[in-house]
Amino acid sequence: MAVQQNKVSKARRNKRRAHDALSGANANECPNCGELKRPHHVCASCGHYAERDVVEMVEEVDLDEDAA
Ligand SMILES: [Zn+2]
Repeated sequence: MAVQQNKVSKARRNKRRAHDALSGANANECPNCGELKRPHHVCASCGHYAERDVVEMVEEVDLDEDAA
């Protein structure tokens, strides 16, 4: 196993990690409904992709239908 020759100080370690932060995913506007959506993904609110309807959207799903 490789063993480091010198201790990495907190300052040096923290300076290295200063560039490790992740940035948030960018979003585009859906051309159909105007909602923000991820690029190259089907719109989550209207189901459109490439300006056509690819996923059928339902109004509401009742999860408590036969919960008893
Ligand atoms: Zn949409």
